[in-house]
Amino acid sequence: WSGHGRSKVSYDELRQIILDTPSREKAREWSKYYTSGAHLAGKNYSQAAWTRDKWEEFGVKSDIVAYDVYINYPKDHRLALLEKKGEDEASSSWKVAFEASLVEDVLDKDPTSGLKESIPTFHGYSASGNVTGPLVYVNYGTFQDFEDLRKANISLGGKMAIARYGGIFRGLKVKRAQELGMLGVIIYTDPGDDGELTEEKGVKPYPDGPARQASSVQRGSVQFLSFAPGDPTTPGYPSKPGVPRAPVDAAIPSIPSIPISYLDALPILKALNGHGPKAKDFNQYWTRNTGLKYKGIEYNIGPTPDDVVVNLYNEQEYTTTPLWNVIGVINGTIPDEVIIVGNHRDAWIAGGAGDPNSGSAVINEVIRSFGEALKLGWKPLRTVVFASWDGEEYGLIGSTEWVEEYLPWLDKANVAYVNIDVGASGRHFKASAAPLLNEIIYAATGAVKSPNQTTAGQSVLDVWGGKISTMGSGSDFTAFQDFAGIPSIDIGFNPYPEDAVYHYHSNYDSFAWMEKFGDPEFVCHQTIAQILGLITAHLVDVPVIPFSAKAYTDALDRYVEQVEDKLDSALSPHANELDISSLSEEDITSIRGSHRLTSQLSTNQTHNHDHDDGTPSAASFKKALRSLHHKISHLSKKAKSLDTQAKALAEAINHIDELPWWKFPKIIRLIFAIRSVNTKYKLLERSFLYSEGLDGRPWFKHVVFAPGLWTGYAGAVFPGLVESIDASDWANALRWVDIIGVCVERAGRGI
Ligand code: GLU
Ligand code: CA
Ligand code: ZN
Ligand code: ZN
Repeated sequence: WSGHGRSKVSYDELRQIILDTPSREKAREWSKYYTSGAHLAGKNYSQAAWTRDKWEEFGVKSDIVAYDVYINYPKDHRLALLEKKGEDEASSSWKVAFEASLVEDVLDKDPTSGLKESIPTFHGYSASGNVTGPLVYVNYGTFQDFEDLRKANISLGGKMAIARYGGIFRGLKVKRAQELGMLGVIIYTDPGDDGELTEEKGVKPYPDGPARQASSVQRGSVQFLSFAPGDPTTPGYPSKPGVPRAPVDAAIPSIPSIPISYLDALPILKALNGHGPKAKDFNQYWTRNTGLKYKGIEYNIGPTPDDVVVNLYNEQEYTTTPLWNVIGVINGTIPDEVIIVGNHRDAWIAGGAGDPNSGSAVINEVIRSFGEALKLGWKPLRTVVFASWDGEEYGLIGSTEWVEEYLPWLDKANVAYVNIDVGASGRHFKASAAPLLNEIIYAATGAVKSPNQTTAGQSVLDVWGGKISTMGSGSDFTAFQDFAGIPSIDIGFNPYPEDAVYHYHSNYDSFAWMEKFGDPEFVCHQTIAQILGLITAHLVDVPVIPFSAKAYTDALDRYVEQVEDKLDSALSPHANELDISSLSEEDITSIRGSHRLTSQLSTNQTHNHDHDDGTPSAASFKKALRSLHHKISHLSKKAKSLDTQAKALAEAINHIDELPWWKFPKIIRLIFAIRSVNTKYKLLERSFLYSEGLDGRPWFKHVVFAPGLWTGYAGAVFPGLVESIDASDWANALRWVDIIGVCVERAGRGI
């Protein structure tokens, strides 16, 4: 069997090839190529063609797959602070007190920062407009930040918002501001959120040191993600030329927004000094990481008086234009078991050494490794598809349109999707995944040496510690996981607070930065290529699909417990007392990104009856959750026995070469048994799709995982249920307990 499908390369040999082939020099070479020119969506054909040709050269049949998508390109912009001068109406006039530069400095030491292909600072899917009004500081612009402002009676309608980046997906900041009647949104990067290495602490800024370059700007999409990713004019179907187009009103902003540097933000924030309450009069979420106090910013909320206003002018050109995915295929022996590995190629900037080109360099090294195996006669068991997605930055467009197009095939054949976006922007490994795949990540990271060892010989797993997050959104796994129900993985090396500041979506996410601060030896590139390669090989070439169904049901149980905890703490008198110093960034984001629970749920434990208006009592709600636990524990038993059977089959197939030829019928039976287990594993995640989708966002079909409604990046579990609880809609919450129960039972019938 080790030579399955007449492969001349055994699994162990394949693993060795995957560990030996990725090289730092090659990764550096690919990084250098990809960071040397424009690769905005729809403007990167030459890089698509180059990628296809490289993959062909490595021995993988590759093609370009195009879609016609609706996106914007920046034309013009202006941001200014205006002050009214003069005593009375008649003699007064508006003076420009500050004109924002809206450009990033060209640095001698960073050649690509001055490329002619440099992209202006703007937001993807931003609305055109020319708006002027007094200013309000809205902290991170989370749902809860805006609630805090409302509670403090700060008037928001007709005002301009200034928000800092961080916590949640930027588009949701704009979405909430728009819902509250604000005119426009300025989003700046506060160096307080940069971790340990800041100028305030005496660290030199880039390019001379690892602190933030003061003029750096984070571009990025402000689509309303939570509605649906992909081309906003074709929700749920592929953007092929000539298809009918839906109106975009609900999917992208109607108010303008602009990203700025902290250098440009300083005079604007200063104009707020002395006006309205201060952040410190609010709560701890407002005072954390405020990094510009040493520059004289007092973090007043505002609003500024009527004679101090901000003017934002934004001109975007909207167009429907082709974009190009590159798809490479190595055909396997089993036609309907397919593994997909993808990374996006488009970037906001000419460079993009971290985002996405560290991932692009890495996927090239992985393909080159598999190409080496092919040359030696390797025949994969399963088909492997490699993807270089376009248009990720605007809203996961290339991957979403492709999944929407190939859904019937993926539904039948796709076993798993593995994503890499930013492969290397710091030295700390990070993973999120569907629980079915956890073990595969542990196996790969345990087999690869860590680039930063505190004791000699440590593996990536040893240093990392093994925390796997649930899937939220923010990269190309979203359509696979949440729309098609395909278990997915996302991995990368990210910066921790003590690492050099990563200039995300800025011109300084450049080759020069990567070489000097990010990954000077390209060792993280090499390491993550080995990990990505091992994960892929494990999924592709091990006869019994290496999933853990039990890990899934354990996770489901934990998620129900989380819902129960949420209820208990809501019902307790101390519900709102939280010490954030003990919480992780992720916890803070998810708390701040959801409505605070205001319970109408009956807490009267002595009577268990539901209310006349249909609101269930706490007792009946808890009973429903207990019954869900019960269903999960039933599924869990079946999951355990599936895993046990899988292990036994994996063991048996390992020894198959020892069987004499007359045991042929036994071999056939074994192969059929494996086929049956594999099909169960392959389709398990699909059981958790609900065709109607989540409330208000029907594109999202998965009942267990979704991006948090008001977080975007951070994932929510049991989103339908949790959102109903957050909205105190108890009848709907009960409905979701039922829907989840049906999915759990369906999963049980499937395995
Ligand atoms: N990864 C990109 C970002 O974080 C795109 C995410 C999205 O539009 O969903 O800006
Ligand atoms: Ca679409
Ligand atoms: Zn990216
Ligand atoms: Zn990005």
